[in-house]
Amino acid sequence: MTQITRMSVLYAPTLKEVPADAAIASHQLLLRAGFMRKTATGLYTFLPLGWRVIRKIERIVRQEMDAIGGQEIMMPILQPAEIWHESGRWGDYGPELMRMSDRHEVGLCLGPTHEELVTALVRNELKSYRQLPTTVYQIQSKFRDEIRSRFGLMRSREFIMKDAYSFNEDEESLHESYAAMSKAYGRICDRLGLDWRTVEADSGQIGGSVTCEYHALAEAGEAELVSCTCGFASNTEVAECISHPTAQGETQLRRIETPGVGTIAALAEFLGIPESATVKALVGKDADGAPVAVFVPGDHELNEIKIERAIPGFSFMDDAEMEDAGLPKGSIGPVGLPEGVRVLADRSLKGVEGWAVGANEHGFHYVGAILDRDFHVDEWGDLCTAKAGDTCPKCGGTLEMNRGIEVGQVFELGDKYSRAMNATYLDENGKEQFFQMGCYGVGISRCMAAIVEQYNDEYGIKWPASVAPAHICVLPLVVGDEAVEPAAERIAAELADLGLEVVIDDRKERPGVKFAEADLMGWPVQVIIGKRSVANGELELKNRQTGEKSTLPVAEFRELMSIAHREKRHIEAFLRSIADIPARHAR
Ligand code: ATP
Ligand code: MG
Repeated sequence: MTQITRMSVLYAPTLKEVPADAAIASHQLLLRAGFMRKTATGLYTFLPLGWRVIRKIERIVRQEMDAIGGQEIMMPILQPAEIWHESGRWGDYGPELMRMSDRHEVGLCLGPTHEELVTALVRNELKSYRQLPTTVYQIQSKFRDEIRSRFGLMRSREFIMKDAYSFNEDEESLHESYAAMSKAYGRICDRLGLDWRTVEADSGQIGGSVTCEYHALAEAGEAELVSCTCGFASNTEVAECISHPTAQGETQLRRIETPGVGTIAALAEFLGIPESATVKALVGKDADGAPVAVFVPGDHELNEIKIERAIPGFSFMDDAEMEDAGLPKGSIGPVGLPEGVRVLADRSLKGVEGWAVGANEHGFHYVGAILDRDFHVDEWGDLCTAKAGDTCPKCGGTLEMNRGIEVGQVFELGDKYSRAMNATYLDENGKEQFFQMGCYGVGISRCMAAIVEQYNDEYGIKWPASVAPAHICVLPLVVGDEAVEPAAERIAAELADLGLEVVIDDRKERPGVKFAEADLMGWPVQVIIGKRSVANGELELKNRQTGEKSTLPVAEFRELMSIAHREKRHIEAFLRSIADIPARHAR
């Protein structure tokens, strides 16, 4: 028999008001339902119910890692700076890396990820190809001093991550580990109950070239994803952009006065044309400080990852720098640019005859500007962020857009770390080779937030059975009543005997409070026992997911339970058949 959780002693303080600094459903509800508390910016304490959910997510992740041969280890959170110097990331990682030194002035950091540490670990121990492939993983707190720590568990400064690392002999073996891990990630997302999608992504800080992100679809997600019915899906950070700018309509270069026009929206309105028929200018400088002007269709945004690839070290100029360079903000165009300005443009503009652009003088624009007649472009590239309505780069269809929460990412790192840190093994011919490596992360605590984003309503959380802090909640509506209380205790004990995780709300609270908090905390099934139902030998069942309720005789409930218990081997399937009773009764 499993332990019954008693609400009378449970440390789960609920809040009536929505916390002021919580902007999204998961952040608000996890605080309100008493699952966690804020300690400081980006730091949270998990209370008993929150921790139970975390442990359930961890268990699913662990099972899927073990199932593909992952071996669980535990590395220190505190890492020596020395290995980060070896990989070159002490310099590259930036201010997110929490750095410190010990009493002997030895540099240390709190691990944001563990590629360096795990590479340093195995380079002395995995010596022969016969020991490969080896995959290790751990579940542990990670630290990143996020510039925008917000949305609760979604982007915190300390968070729980499962990080796995594979060490492979060659690329083929790495592809196999990567594929197995990708499948496991899909199963994890399924078992967490998530509506998810896998997308092409940027490899960011970690490095490597082959990578995929796993996103839970949610309006509150920080990521923008484009996808197509053909199966193409990508993070807009990296998606190839095929847009369709149109010509402004004139082919004769004409300088016009445009008083007060400083934005694309204002220019389009002034000229009476769509924004897609205007050309937007952005100015910055390269790593050496030399000026760069970039032109993109008026209805698209410059993509920061793409411009950084095209011009390493690119940064935008501030207003003063622009004035100094003779580039008047809001009126910049390719015609008559000052000497020495490098000109880049999005390739979609190449065939567009007649651009509407700034005239490099406050209050003036050109229309009918023609490429190579009136101005020139030094380089063309794919520079914009794709969006809904653009063309699918895979099938030519039309892209849709969704928002997503990145819950996991898988990478083929190749030999980036093994080469930098001289981690080698001996191949079949006794020749030294660098390891091929993969790394694979799941944000355990972010998953909890993602689940709540997908499973909530105006009353609270609706946990999927696989991660619910308990399966079923018994609500005796009158505590102290000589009929209600024993009936509720008996049902609770019977449910627990059958292996369910049971909560009983044995507090001396009004029924309204009990109903509201049961809905808020999100138990999948509620068993409601009141004075009248006891007198009639009945109880009421509520399925939190669907909201369906039904009243049935206690004897019938027992019968249905024991049938379901005999038939089902998995506790979740058992719970599902109990949760289905109200729907079946209604029919
Ligand atoms: P993001 O782009 O959201 O900052 P990331 O790509 O930098 O995340 P990874 O290095 O891929 O993150 O880490 C693996 C996983 O850890 C992510 O997929 C995400 O689920 C989780 N994660 C990363 N940063 C945070 C954070 N600040 N708070 C909570 N979870 C995080
Ligand atoms: Mg990532």
